[in-house]
Amino acid sequence: MTWLLIVIAILVIVSFLLYNFASMGMIGKKSSEAYKNSLKNQIKPLTRHPVIDHSICILCGSCIRACPETHGDDSPLGIVDGRLLLVNPAKCVGHAQCEMQCPTGAMTVTLGELAADPNMPVLTKNNETIVPGIFIAGELSGVPLVKNAIDQGNEVIKYIALKASAEESGDSEIFDVVIVGLGPSGLSATLSAHEHKLKYVTIEQRAIGGTVSNYPKQKMIMTSPINLPLYGTIKKSEIQKEELIDIWNSMVKKYNLNLHVGEKVESIFSEANGKYFNVSTNTAAFKTKNVILCLGRRGTPRKLGIKGEELLKVTYGLIDPDAYQKKKIIVVGGGDSAIEAAVVLSKNNEVILSYRKDSFFRVKDKNMRAIKNAEENGSIKIMLNSELTEITEKNVSIKINEDLSVVENDYVFVLIGGEPPFPLLRSMGIIKDTEK
Ligand SMILES: Cc1cc2nc3c(=O)[nH]c(=O)nc-3n(C[C@H](O)[C@H](O)[C@H](O)COP(=O)(O)OP(=O)(O)OC[C@H]3O[C@@H](n4cnc5c(N)ncnc54)[C@H](O)[C@@H]3O)c2cc1C
Ligand code: SF4
Repeated sequence: MTWLLIVIAILVIVSFLLYNFASMGMIGKKSSEAYKNSLKNQIKPLTRHPVIDHSICILCGSCIRACPETHGDDSPLGIVDGRLLLVNPAKCVGHAQCEMQCPTGAMTVTLGELAADPNMPVLTKNNETIVPGIFIAGELSGVPLVKNAIDQGNEVIKYIALKASAEESGDSEIFDVVIVGLGPSGLSATLSAHEHKLKYVTIEQRAIGGTVSNYPKQKMIMTSPINLPLYGTIKKSEIQKEELIDIWNSMVKKYNLNLHVGEKVESIFSEANGKYFNVSTNTAAFKTKNVILCLGRRGTPRKLGIKGEELLKVTYGLIDPDAYQKKKIIVVGGGDSAIEAAVVLSKNNEVILSYRKDSFFRVKDKNMRAIKNAEENGSIKIMLNSELTEITEKNVSIKINEDLSVVENDYVFVLIGGEPPFPLLRSMGIIKDTEK
């Protein structure tokens, strides 16, 4: 009987090891390419990410499988030359599932080297920056995830409300707080400011929902229960992007929140000997005692700066490829996002990929192969050394070398990267003036 138990135990252990080493082999091989690319690109994680203790990592692969951002062989983590690494740092959003599932405690999700990054603002326990009266909430503070952003937005407002109650009401033209950004942290701060009867205004350059509104269609958001001010608890461990955005939109409507959507904050400076801040957008200016920056860390999409770019057919992200069928589309850009978008859109549309340089670089091998195949089978036309010069309702003008041509067009996707929020922070003295 004892022998039988020993044989069963050995069989279980051997199958466990075979299973893990089989998946390691597969993941490791693919990730080696991604890792080389990530080194080439010098991509750093944006927020909290796993730091791996190689001395106790047994390479079981549990973390790779546990990560919600692992899709097939595309994962933030991978095994390269016998070492577990964060091979796709930009894909890590800090869920920490890897840390929870690691059987040996080799993974710790922290800010790692980012803690010493000059772009990481120094904050008090109330999330106030080194400029008194300017606060930060959400991912810009280095803490990722929707729930954390919502909690921080609410907590910062509670602190400002407490401060405001101790101050004289003063000039009625001066706001108690200006909230910049309407992602999860900005929305929560706005609802909380409304609840606390503060004089507030919230400014968002794009759309309600921030990064969440840019997730792919029907993405499931992993979360622990969320306490949203004026709403209560959303008790779900997974919620679809559309459901969460619907809740937020219904709150905006129900409470008629004071929002300025479609305005970009361009500068913030102190006036009247520090009595208030002046927050200027592209169309207006506001005086306020406090500012909460809920800008995220992912940046504002870069624009082309050409005539016609304001047309509704021009977009800066691809959310639902299936919404485009039998259309004439131009994708602008030469990085992974542009190539991935061009390839997926080419399945049901006529696609031109326009890039201003003479060859693609910093592109994953997988995407390079996909774009070459698409060009060879005629589903994508690639225009290198080309630049869009004007967009109209029905056409696009493209300059290739010195020749100008006009092509028929229904949609333009501009996927040329983003401008990080750090210059704004630097101009306010919140982070050090050392470009990195
Ligand atoms: C692909 C992906 C998947 C993710 N999956 C999950 C998940 O499953 N679960 C989870 O909890 N988290 C997930 N996250 C992380 C989560 O989305 C972020 O942590 C969260 O959105 C951060 O919220 P935020 O309010 O700090 O910033 P953001 O959501 O980034 O919002 C910032 C807002 O500020 C605006 N803004 C910036 N600059 C200006 C300016 N100058 N003027 C006016 N407005 C400005 C931007 O337009 C934007 O709307 C994921 C992230 C990504 C990228
Ligand atoms: S922290 Fe989250 S997103 Fe990053 S590797 Fe771990 S599980 Fe994946």
